[in-house]
This record gives sequence, structure tokens and C-alpha cells, in this order.
Amino acid sequence: MRGRFAPSPSGRMHLGNVYSALLSYLSAKKGGGEWILRIEDLDRQRCKKEYSAQLLEDLLWLGLKWDNFSEASGGLSGEFYQSNRDSFYINAFDLLCEKGLVYDCFCSRADLFSASAPHASDGSPVYSGKCRNLSESEKSLLYNKRLPAKRIIVEEKSCSFSDGHYGNQVCQLSRDLGDFVIRRSDGNFSYQLAVVVDDALMGVDQVVRGRDLISSTFNQLYLYEKLDFHQLPQFFHLPLLLSADGRRLSKRDKDTDMGFLRENFSGEQLIGKILFLCGCIEKEESLSLEEALSVFDWEKIKKDDVFCSTL
Ligand code: GLU
Repeated sequence: MRGRFAPSPSGRMHLGNVYSALLSYLSAKKGGGEWILRIEDLDRQRCKKEYSAQLLEDLLWLGLKWDNFSEASGGLSGEFYQSNRDSFYINAFDLLCEKGLVYDCFCSRADLFSASAPHASDGSPVYSGKCRNLSESEKSLLYNKRLPAKRIIVEEKSCSFSDGHYGNQVCQLSRDLGDFVIRRSDGNFSYQLAVVVDDALMGVDQVVRGRDLISSTFNQLYLYEKLDFHQLPQFFHLPLLLSADGRRLSKRDKDTDMGFLRENFSGEQLIGKILFLCGCIEKEESLSLEEALSVFDWEKIKKDDVFCSTL
């Protein structure tokens, strides 16, 4: 069994990121499995080398050592950075193109967010399919204005999976997701494509992450099918950590970032705090990683999102 943590280094980790890291680690290790790290730095504008380096250091400070640790390359070898993996994404993208599933979309953000568009559960607009049937001459006119994004045709059928924590999840693919982007107009591959290619090629069979990504799981299952990856991971989603005013924690909240946390708590205090917040222990106390492993139990983890106003 192999679990993973797949952070995007777009800033210092915050409590929510560390919580996903810790619980994915405990879940993999509790099942006797491996836990690997992959850096999701596809967004070249937002992701920075210094954030990745800090992230590795913060995980090690907490005692979370990934099984693909590599001394030679300062913690993680290059193949675990998505920015080095374009060749794998190109192969997958080409396969989808060969299957006739990909088309050019020239819509602007304004087109996509037009008031009439229905919205998916994550708030993003469900694509209307406007550019699906453009003629070659229409396309060449549009090419002069802007470069297209590449969308995958989503079939009209339902998709379901059994979440290890939230149980059965169902969606109607074309109605709830619509044709989605697999390669952006700047040439970068989308998160959805890259995460599937990587989880499949890296032999990941357990994915633990925040429940905000439940809807993305449907996009990903669709890609597993179309890319002929038959071995599906088991998905476990976690309740979200919210700030006192009900917002999701973000990298902008300085009072929950790792800089602040490391100044104010020891690693064992932080592990205990996280396990207390998510319901694994009833009283807040310091825990070593070993103790955390012995109290960790999916049955005890809350389903409702967790307010963490009292750090
Ligand atoms: N890079 C994604 C994030 O940080 C990871 C999502 C996932 O675990 O699939 O949100």
C-alpha cells in the first residue's frame, strides 16, 4: 500500500496543509504502507523553489519522513517534482487526443463566468461546450486572437465512488463537471491531468486529502478510465479546517502558517493539536508520532468541518 502527500509550494505550509500531511502519513503507515511525497509545482508563476525547500524542512521538523527520501538530492529527487515531468503528461495528453477526446477552447474567463453558467460544487462554472463543434475556419480566426485551452469531452453518464471516510459519492458527469481543461492556454497541464498521471505511475493506492477535492475526484476517475489506468486508488477525504469566521485556512493567514506554529509549539504539541482538532483524541495533549499512530483511527475522525479558532 502506498499513500502520498502532494502539496503545491505556493507559500509556507499552513495548519491545513500540515494536517493533510500528517493524516495521510498516519493513514498510510497505520495500514503498513509507504508514504511518498510529490511536489505539485506545475504553476510556474506561483510555485517557488524556496517554498519547496522550506516545505521539506517543515515536514522533517515534524518528523514526517517520506519513503522516497533521497539524501543525494537534498531530500527529494527531481522526478518527484511535477515541473520535471512534462514528458509523462505529454504522453497522456497525446493518448487522449488520439482517442478524439480533446478540443480547443477559446473562451475567455468572462465567457466562462457569464451569469447564466451553472456552477459545479466547487464554484467553478460548468462549461457549456460552446467550442466543441467549431469549424476549422472558425478556429483559425480565433487563433489570431488567443491561444486555446484544451478540454476533454465528458460523456453523459454517472460516476460514483466509495469514499473511505464520507461513503458513497455520485455525480452526473456532463451535468456536474462538464468538459474540463486538461491543458491550459499557456501550455501547462492542469492539476487534474497531472495528478492522475502521477498517482497512477507512482503506484499510489491511497489518496488522503481535504474534502474540497471530492468533486475533483470525479474528474480524476474519468481520466483514469480514459487513460486506461485500471488500478484505482482508494480515496479518503478529510473535513476542512476553518478559521473562526468560517473561511478555509489560507497561506495568507499568518497565525496558522508553519513559521508561527514552529515559534509557538513543539512538533509533539502540534501533532497532538491536529489529532485533537480532527477528533482522534478527546483531550489536547502532546503526542509523539508513534503515539499518534496508535491513536489514529478513521472511525474517530469528524465528518463536519472543524473550526480552529483557539490555537
Ligand atoms: N497539490 C494539490 C493541493 O495542494 C494536491 C491535491 C491532492 O492531494 O490531490 O491542493
